[in-house]
Amino acid sequence: MISLNGKVALITGASRGIGRAVAMLFAKAGCDVIINYRSDAAAAEQTRSKVEALGVRAQAMAADVADRAQVDAMVANAIQTFGRIDILVNNAGIWKHNPIYNMSEELLRETLDVNILGTFYPIMAVVPHMMARKTGNIINISSTAGQRGEAFHSPYAASKGAVISLTKSLAPELAEYHIRVNCVAPGWVDTDMSHEALISDDRENILHLIPLGRAGTAEELAGPVLFLASELSTFITGEILNVNGGAVLCG
Ligand code: NAP
Repeated sequence: MISLNGKVALITGASRGIGRAVAMLFAKAGCDVIINYRSDAAAAEQTRSKVEALGVRAQAMAADVADRAQVDAMVANAIQTFGRIDILVNNAGIWKHNPIYNMSEELLRETLDVNILGTFYPIMAVVPHMMARKTGNIINISSTAGQRGEAFHSPYAASKGAVISLTKSLAPELAEYHIRVNCVAPGWVDTDMSHEALISDDRENILHLIPLGRAGTAEELAGPVLFLASELSTFITGEILNVNGGAVLCG
């Protein structure tokens, strides 16, 4: 019932995890997909061929989202190749253990660069194009951590809080151009990012704080992203959609 037929989506960090699941679901809905990644070309190519097998156009494009020149070049290439970008999903992100009493300056900067600037840069590159077309849809991926904080991951939590306030700032700013800006905030989702924690000694403590009693799957995140990208949500902008088994209420 949900169709993105004929649309073009750029999804950052789509070589694996949640981004890959979003790319697959968008393709099933008829959407052409640009699969951004930073380093794992083999994983991106695997995603590309799976997406293409669903009958849409797909291309993998390497770019570090924290590097403005690389992002600008990728967006220009995407528009030239596909003719336009209707939907931008800012999904690329990193999550690193980094206690405040022993903070790695390098990890602090990398986290802020990838998670904050890496959300700004694709938006800055795509928005003039969307404004000219007077239509567009931007979905940013935040986290429960951006709302309630996360011990030992304060740079990550701060970066994801920034993604929420960025979403809330841009929704009214871009509304007159018919560009919607929303956010999906996952809780624990079993991907490469979190798998080690989910099989560690901490597992029971983690699951205890999730009312539904389990981590989510990447596919369970993709559905809400598709909803926000679709015609079923045309009156929603500036919203933070929590997809976390109720965890944000309990941490
Ligand atoms: P993941 O499995 O670690 O995948 C991360 C993806 O982002 C990969 O495709 C990776 O590509 C790409 N990436 C990382 N840094 C990049 C950069 N600088 N430029 C371009 N691409 C980059 O992560 P995930 O679990 O799917 O997470 C996706 C999003 O959900 C993130 O924003 C994350 O913070 C958020 N989230 C996840 C969870 C969870 O429990 N998994 C919970 C809350 C929020 P390469 O491999 O090529 O580097």
